[in-house]
Amino acid sequence: MMEHKTQRVLLKLSGEALMGDGVAIDSRFLHWLALEIKAVHDLGVQLALVVGGGNIFRGMSSGAVAMERSSADHMGMLATVINALALQNALERIGVPVRVQSAITMPQVAESYIHRKAMRHLEKGRVVVFAAGTGNPYFTTDTAASLRAAEIHADLLLKATKVDGVYSADPKKDPSAQRFTELTFAEVLAKDLRVMDLTAITLCQDNQIPVTVFSIYEEGALAAIVRGENRGTRIGVN
Ligand code: UDP
Repeated sequence: MMEHKTQRVLLKLSGEALMGDGVAIDSRFLHWLALEIKAVHDLGVQLALVVGGGNIFRGMSSGAVAMERSSADHMGMLATVINALALQNALERIGVPVRVQSAITMPQVAESYIHRKAMRHLEKGRVVVFAAGTGNPYFTTDTAASLRAAEIHADLLLKATKVDGVYSADPKKDPSAQRFTELTFAEVLAKDLRVMDLTAITLCQDNQIPVTVFSIYEEGALAAIVRGENRGTRIGVN
């Protein structure tokens, strides 16, 4: 019998998490990340990933100022597909079964997002990487993560960041900044804490999906959280 209560998890990784010095995708870090993900998969938990594209292109970036927003956002979504393929490769190399499903149809590259098929993959123990965000411009991959978490009935959304949780202020700028161990969605909204964008947060709140914000650089944190240990900041429904 499993010790942990969490059965199905959605992990949101930002594109920047894959970045290395001067390279969009750092293969050594990607391998390390794949091992962290494998540790969760080895627990017998059903695991889905949503990866961002910020290491390659963001629709709202300075490189996109002269562009029509929809085109820029399509470029951003394509960037997430590149990252998803990199993750797929890194996971397969260490023996983790994985499928990429893209919200923008590109059958030569990845499966199309089909909810029932995604559920079947998860039930069979395959990691599913959801690529191309929601498939729509004017959204973020955080919102895509909340949406997919709701669709697959995830019992936890894990948001990997560079810092080890949600702070009262930016810990890099304000040494008195305090890390919250627990918050409610109402507190996140009332305190205007920038955990995820508003659309993403309210989607989780409405669908009662708890979110844990944690540092992707803390070795073993991902599996520890899934086993039920307190790491990072947990945002609960109440
Ligand atoms: N994007 C989009 N619709 C979506 C998800 C993403 O248009 O549903 C675009 C948007 O331009 C965004 C880019 O893809 O800036 C990359 O995603 P994001 O910035 O969320 O990546 P992250 O910050 O997580 O690396």
